[in-house]
Amino acid sequence: MNKTAFETFGISSEITSALTSLRYFKPTAVQEEVLPLALENQDIIVESQTGSGKTVAFGIPLCEQAEWEENKPQALILVPTRELALQVKDDLMNIGRLKRIKVTAVFGKSSFKTQKSELKQKSHIVVGTPGRVLEHLKEGTLVVDKVDSLVLDEADEMLNMGFIDQVEEVINFLPKQRQTLLFSATMSSEIDRIASFYMREDRATVRMEQSEQNTPKIVHSYIKVEEASKEKQLLDLLTIENPDASIIFCNTKDVVDSVEQYLNKAGLPIDKLHGGMDQDDRLAVLDDFRFGKIRYLVATDVAARGIDIDNVTHVVNYDVPFEKESYTHRTGRTGRAGKTGLALTMVSDKDRARWQETKDYAFDDNQELTEVFAPSERAVTRAKTAFQKKLNTRVAPKIARNKELNKDITKVYFNGGKKKKLRAVDFVGTLTSIKELSAEDIGIITIQENVTYVEIMNGKGPYVISEMQDRTVKGKTLKVRKARK
Ligand code: AMP
Repeated sequence: MNKTAFETFGISSEITSALTSLRYFKPTAVQEEVLPLALENQDIIVESQTGSGKTVAFGIPLCEQAEWEENKPQALILVPTRELALQVKDDLMNIGRLKRIKVTAVFGKSSFKTQKSELKQKSHIVVGTPGRVLEHLKEGTLVVDKVDSLVLDEADEMLNMGFIDQVEEVINFLPKQRQTLLFSATMSSEIDRIASFYMREDRATVRMEQSEQNTPKIVHSYIKVEEASKEKQLLDLLTIENPDASIIFCNTKDVVDSVEQYLNKAGLPIDKLHGGMDQDDRLAVLDDFRFGKIRYLVATDVAARGIDIDNVTHVVNYDVPFEKESYTHRTGRTGRAGKTGLALTMVSDKDRARWQETKDYAFDDNQELTEVFAPSERAVTRAKTAFQKKLNTRVAPKIARNKELNKDITKVYFNGGKKKKLRAVDFVGTLTSIKELSAEDIGIITIQENVTYVEIMNGKGPYVISEMQDRTVKGKTLKVRKARK
């Protein structure tokens, strides 16, 4: 059999098979550069944009290096936002799926106790925001004496968001003998300082030259608008453009609420995302958007950073961002994975100065920025039929990347957990007493207060469920069925 492109790096078959199932057939440019060095345990500074495949670039070596038998965390990843923490967790769990790698995400505004209990169970890799990671370190609920890899993801963002002190405090908890990988879209003297302080002297630097292949293809444009009629003008523009999927960025949550309400009334399949919303709601909205249930998302900058959603065809800046750096992050949500995206910024009179500043920052002489003009009423009326038609057609649900990978894995629910003093060994003991079921068929075990979930691999889930109907775990009879989620 021919080697897949990833096999040439000497990665184990459990990881390369997972990559194939995830439809990652050949490495991206940044992965080509980073993988050989990272797998050799080198420290690396990587300057590359989000969308270049950097998560997989550090995900592969971390999963490859993780030892399943070790119960304590072996790698720590620091990221700027909660959403990114969850996304990195999902990506890494997919890559490490067949090796049964457990990744735990920790972040603020979410139950400390639940995270503490998750950290107590097997967690090979931990990903989190600096503040919450630090809390766990101080409380002793995150043990790092076995951590031999540290990843600083979106380091420039962590600095911009003022997390530098916390990042440094976290690093000081870690063993000195370790590999450190630093990823950043931009470099600065502050990042250099961190690197020289916390990374080995012989660290490698990987700088991805902007090339056709790794530059997001985004057509940038702007339109001058009247403040008083902005919402109507936005609807007109959307009618003309008729996007498949669009994120509309506003500067404040009040504006998000108002724009969402306006467009909702017009019948658009839409929802909103801002920092004032409950964490669970935010994640549910992102999922709905990711899987095409809604096609329009109105959001503040919480949605701009690092979030990886394929197929966003249009990014609209309803407001010129307060911070010029946000422009790059917002518009970077489109033009991903080799597709062309359109970015459109609405500039009203009061935004003029800020727009000039943003342009100076985000564009150089070679980049094109096109001024577009308000469409005529006639053009809008003409475009309406096609627009309405698309509103009423259901978008085909997108296939989750890990569908193939999860095909043979069944999550099994047991109605007993910590309260009944059940531990992972008790489940493993009972399950491996089933004929033709071995420890290799048992995936991640999650024990909560009153319930436990056990993943059964290799298509043996239904068999296990039926076998478990008249067996006990540690002498206790439990209800056993396929988990709902
Ligand atoms: P990131 O830079 O981590 O935000 O990743 C950008 C996007 O590229 C994500 O949607 C990944 O799923 C995708 N991706 C990463 N590596 C590969 C690969 N080798 N082949 C195809 N897509 C990839």
